[in-house]
Amino acid sequence: FSSGREPVTATLFPGDGVGPEISDRVVEIFEAAKVPIKWDVQIVGKEVDPRTNSFISRENLDSVLKNRIGLKAPMATPIGKGFRSLNLTLRKELQLYANVRPCLSIPGYKTRYDNIDLVTIRENTEGEYSGLEHEVVPGVVESLKIITRVASTRVAEFAFEYARKHNRRKVTAVHKANIMKLADGLFIKCCREVSERYPEIEYEEMIVDNTCMQLVSRPSQFDVMCMPNLYGDIISDLCAGLIGGLGLTPSGNIGTNGLALMEAVHGTAPDIVGQNKANPTAMLLSGVMMLRHINLSKEADMIEKACLDTIAEGKYLTRDLGGKSGTTDFTKAIIGALDD
Ligand code: ATP
Ligand code: MG
Repeated sequence: FSSGREPVTATLFPGDGVGPEISDRVVEIFEAAKVPIKWDVQIVGKEVDPRTNSFISRENLDSVLKNRIGLKAPMATPIGKGFRSLNLTLRKELQLYANVRPCLSIPGYKTRYDNIDLVTIRENTEGEYSGLEHEVVPGVVESLKIITRVASTRVAEFAFEYARKHNRRKVTAVHKANIMKLADGLFIKCCREVSERYPEIEYEEMIVDNTCMQLVSRPSQFDVMCMPNLYGDIISDLCAGLIGGLGLTPSGNIGTNGLALMEAVHGTAPDIVGQNKANPTAMLLSGVMMLRHINLSKEADMIEKACLDTIAEGKYLTRDLGGKSGTTDFTKAIIGALDD
């Protein structure tokens, strides 16, 4: 990716529910900020594509594979049997092996703590979510947790590279190796090996139950956190709660050779569709992550600052943040706060 003025083409999935409304606002803010991005808009169809066995079509996937960068709004998972879920299709076909969630206290938006600035990095392909379960005999189920050297090293390398690129000081590997001696033992062994190649970054290991207690009592001690799939699922939601909920939390899904698909953490919010009530912050901050990923840091900083300043000012907040403004007025306020 170049950081020059040549526009970068990025895939955009407007998604379902409030997805299209918040995607439009992100596009509007990016245009106002003169971000050199061209959107390749991809609509997920209403029929299963036999080539992918999913509602995500071959063309949808090829767009991300070609552009290597994308932004995705929440999508509704169609109910039925005989096809793959949307997220599973994306994760498998694009080999999205790491999920990244920055959690930053938002000045002016009051939560229990106001000094949180941490990032969770979750292994996204194996662990407890390998999908290998069977009933051995009636009443006995076996569920396999798979930990491999390849996947553990890959996510650890990503965590340390992320720490280096974003000037972070510490990586904490989260585990339960005192009980799962082989599985989590291998995970932290890989993290430890990778850490030796990054002497400038502090490395520590923490048992997952203690991590939960530490997170709710003294979250500011954490910086970058790296963990297997199940712990990552739980802890990343816990961290989102610490800073004010899913409406504010962006995320990124990272694949091989720098491919990345960013998305808001929340769902399609069917209860508020079309009412000008949706908060576009999580989607916008996901867009900011996308810009940083392709080295458009100046634009990323400007948009992030405008968004955080607007929330801190508190005059034009959406209802979920305790305000009375609609999506459009909140968006206007962000655009007004750009570039000062
Ligand atoms: P899905 O099935 O797509 O996950 P859901 O019914 O679980 O949808 P969520 O989208 O997870 O709903 O939302 C849970 C609650 O949070 C809803 O009341 C919703 O209105 C609210 N919510 C979610 N996202 C936003 C947003 N961006 N702005 C404002 N409110 C939101
Ligand atoms: Mg949901």
